[in-house]
This record gives sequence, C-alpha cells and structure tokens, in this order.
Amino acid sequence: MAYDFDLYVIGAGSGGVRAARFAAGFGAKVAVAESRYLGGTCVNVGCVPKKLLVYGAHYAEDFEQASAYGWTAGEPSFDWATLIANKDREINRLNGIYRNLLVNSGVVLHEGHAKITGPHEVEINDQRYTAKHIMIATGGWPVIPDIPGREHAISSNEAFFLKELPKRVIVVGGGYIAVEFAGIFHGMGAQTSLLYRGDLFLRGFDGAVRKHLAEELTRRGLDLQFNADIKSIEKLDDGSLRVELKDGKTLITDCVFYATGRRPMLDNLGLENTAVTVDEKGFVVVNEKYETTEPSILAIGDVIGRVQLTPVALAEGMAVARRLFKPEQYRLVDYRMIPTAVFSLPNIGTVGLTEEQAREEGHEVEIFESRFRPMKLSLTECQERTLMKLVVNAKTDKVLGCHMVGPDAGEIVQGLAIALKAGATKRDFDETIGVHPTAAEEFVTMRTPVAS
Ligand code: FAD
Ligand code: NDP
Repeated sequence: MAYDFDLYVIGAGSGGVRAARFAAGFGAKVAVAESRYLGGTCVNVGCVPKKLLVYGAHYAEDFEQASAYGWTAGEPSFDWATLIANKDREINRLNGIYRNLLVNSGVVLHEGHAKITGPHEVEINDQRYTAKHIMIATGGWPVIPDIPGREHAISSNEAFFLKELPKRVIVVGGGYIAVEFAGIFHGMGAQTSLLYRGDLFLRGFDGAVRKHLAEELTRRGLDLQFNADIKSIEKLDDGSLRVELKDGKTLITDCVFYATGRRPMLDNLGLENTAVTVDEKGFVVVNEKYETTEPSILAIGDVIGRVQLTPVALAEGMAVARRLFKPEQYRLVDYRMIPTAVFSLPNIGTVGLTEEQAREEGHEVEIFESRFRPMKLSLTECQERTLMKLVVNAKTDKVLGCHMVGPDAGEIVQGLAIALKAGATKRDFDETIGVHPTAAEEFVTMRTPVAS
C-alpha cells in the first residue's frame, strides 16, 4: 500500500524533531505535527529557559563576592520583567531555528493537534494522512496532586511566565525541578521555602550529595522543610495564600509552585483506535526498538517514561531514524552511564552508580571523597564547600561513579562521563595529569579512600 508518508511524527520536541530531521535526511518522506510550540518542553518550558533563569539567579552571589576582588558597584537591583522579556525573545529565536531546521531538511510541518485514527492514520486540522510508521513523541505534562485549593498553585509551565517575582514562594517536591526552581527564586531574592514529603530530597542521588546540597542550601538561607506536605491551599482577601500542612502547621505565601513529577502527554491522542498499551503509571509500553504493542506505532522520549532527559530523547529519536532508514548506522541506545546535572546553586553533576547503588549491586567498593572551599571564594567571606566523590570497585579498580556538588559540576561531569563509559580505572584517574589550578583537578588527585 502506498502511504502519504514513511514516518509521521507526533510532537516537535527534543525526540520528535531529531527523529524527523534525520529520517528525512536519510531519504524518508516525513511529516511532523506540533500542537503547541516548536522545540517542545526543553526549548519552551524546560532546560533552556530554566538555565537562563539559573544564570540570572547566579548574579546575586557574583555581586556579593565582587567587592573582595576590589570592585565597587552600586546597590544591585533585579527586574524580573526584563529577564522574562529577554528570555521570551531568545525562545522565539530558537522556535524560528527549529522551524528552519525542519523545513530545510525536507520535513512537512503540520501545526495543530494530531490524533491517531488507526494503526497507519493520523488526523490533524480535519485532514487525514496515512503513514507506514507513526511515532508518538508527545512528551509529558506537570502533575499537581488533587488537594483542596490546587487551582491556586502553579507548575513549571506557568513559572516561566509569571508577571512579577513573588515576594514569598513555597516550592513543593524534592526532584530536579523543585530544587532548581527553589534556587532560582531564592537567588532572585524571593523568600523561598522548599517542602519535601520525605526525610531528604533528591531520592536516587548519592547520599553524600543529597546531604551536602541540603547543607549548602541551608547555609545560603533557603528554608528547607523535609517531612512536610501540603493538605490544602486557601486564597485570602489580600491575595496571599494560606497553606495548611498535613501536620497542622500553616504558612502564608504569595505563590505555591508544585514540582511533583510529570505524566505522559496522551490527551485526545486516539490511542483507543490502536492496540497501543500503557503501563501502570500511564507511560507508553515499548520494546527495545521503541515499537509499541501496535507494530506500526513507535514511541520515544518522556512519553515512554524511561529517562526523562533531553539527550536521552535525542538518542532514542536518532536510534529509530537509523533503524528504519539507515540500518547500517543503527546502534541500540546505551542507558548506562548517563551523566546528569541538577542546576541548583551550587550545581550537582553526577554519572554512574551512587555509593548506595554500588553496594546494593554487590560491588565491593572503595570511596574517595574530597570537600574543599573553591579557590574563587578564598578572598571572600563565603564558606561554601565543594564536594567530589568517586565510587570505585575495589576488586577491578573500575570507577563506577563520579559525583560532585559545586560550581560548574555539570560541565565537569560531562568529560568524566566519557572516561567512565570507556571503562576508566582509578589508576587511569591517578595517572591523568591535572589542570592546575582548577576544581576539576581534584578528581585526579584523590589518593586515600575514606571508606571501603
Ligand atoms: P517534549 O520535548 O515534551 O515534546 C513533546 C511535543 O509534543 C510538545 O511540543 C507538545 O506540544 C507536542 N504534542 C503533544 N501532544 C501532541 C499532539 N497530540 N499533537 C501534536 N503535538 C503534540 N532535561 C535535560 O536533559 N536537562 C535539563 O536541564 C532539563 N530541564 C528541564 C526543566 C524543566 C522545567 C522541565 C519540565 C523539563 C526539563 N528537562 C530537562 C526534561 C526535558 O525537557 C525532556 O526530557 C524533553 O523535553 C523530552 O523530550 P520529548 O521529545 O520526549 O518531549
Ligand atoms: P521528579 O520525578 O524528579 O521529582 C518529583 C518529586 O516530587 C519527588 O521528590 C517526589 O517525591 C515528589 N512528589 C511526587 N508526588 C508527590 C505528591 N503527591 N506530593 C508531594 N510530593 C510528591 O520530577 P520533576 O517534576 O522534578 O521533574 C520531572 C523530570 O524532568 C525529572 O525527573 C527529570 O528527568 C527531568 N528534569 C531534568 C532536569 C535536568 O536534567 N537538570 C531539570 C528538570 C527536570 P518522592 O521522591 O518521595 O517520590
């Protein structure tokens, strides 16, 4: 049967754009549908605008520390509206770049909400198109728990477009988004509290990293409240919000920001017209080839709920494009050793196993740890400390994990990820000559294990 397209991609986000562009480049006839914004979550309400806000928040401490280096400046003041307007301009520019990337690579762009009407058919803007393969790359959406007053809370989607910086903010959650945005609001000068329902935030990260970041954030004046969860939110006559916690405590704030995870975006996608199945959390079930239980329909990125990171969505999109249209270049996505950063202030950078995971997996481990005051702070009063940690297999000498909390941790860990992926041993680290004077050199000069 002749189809209108070889591949019809639903969602022009990180994964969808990558798959569409490369499939078209390999000679396939490709269309991509986008209902909201080109570039998806990462470009519009995720990685990119978030990082711009993190840069903005970072200036607070730069101003504070500059005087120790002889600088005198006027009293710094911050204007949220300027930052948001500049951020919006940059995102508009990126949207245009994404449009050009798609069109110039020969992809047909359909702007509107796409619905799957059959295993090989998609409906958009009252038109139906057939395709040999359909790809679901529709991403995720923030989840706010169903509590009384949830309509007064915002998620990351709204945070990027707030008209003004709230004076007081409560951030709820203990994952990436909560920690990053608590740092952004705090850095900009809002009185910020982070409420997390468990004992210590960032579940799944190395224990030393979680504790170190909690100490650093507290030292900076961010109010961390663990074992705290909201029961209800009520709007008061003066516009402020009265928040009641499950333990009976009440807090008054101007903004409640929920960062309590994301669900797959499958709204009105027409899965009922297919044999596609979802798991118990609602994510689309796929095999190692990203085929759903409807063989002609593929799914990649956040919607499959594996690792919700842009570079992972890119790798999955690339793998599908190659497998279908350039099989000689096809390689499976390797989910081991995925480096990641939390752009908190200070950053976390991490790759490989945490100490806890390594022990659980039965490795005999040696732990190397270093805590020091970054050189840049030596002329200042700031007592911030950087943490670096290596988890090493005591038998094979292989480095299983690298973890850091400190300035530029994300940048530093990217390079270490290559070493770990190549199977570097602690001896390889020891024999590597450092770059002096840097913080990163500490990773190649830790000699004495702190624990085994
Ligand atoms: P998305 O990028 O979400 O794209 C899905 C697209 O599909 C969207 O544009 C949507 O409008 C469209 N769509 C949905 N349904 C339809 C339909 N029926 N018809 C047509 N179009 C449809 N990751 C990192 O690696 N680093 C970070 O620093 C980082 N920061 C983040 C910060 C925040 C606040 C958030 C929310 C996420 C962040 N992420 C980060 C995660 C990253 O954004 C996602 O993992 C990534 O965007 C997933 O890509 P995707 O292609 O699966 O989906
Ligand atoms: P996460 O899954 O990372 O964290 C969700 C947090 O909310 C957890 O601390 C969880 O607690 C808590 N939580 C979940 N449900 C509730 C509830 N009902 N009440 C109270 N607390 C709750 O999700 P995020 O929203 O922070 O981010 C989504 C994903 O986006 C991330 O996992 C990451 O993959 C990606 N991302 C990546 C970034 C980066 O690379 N820098 C930045 C931002 C996002 P508990 O641990 O107890 O379950």
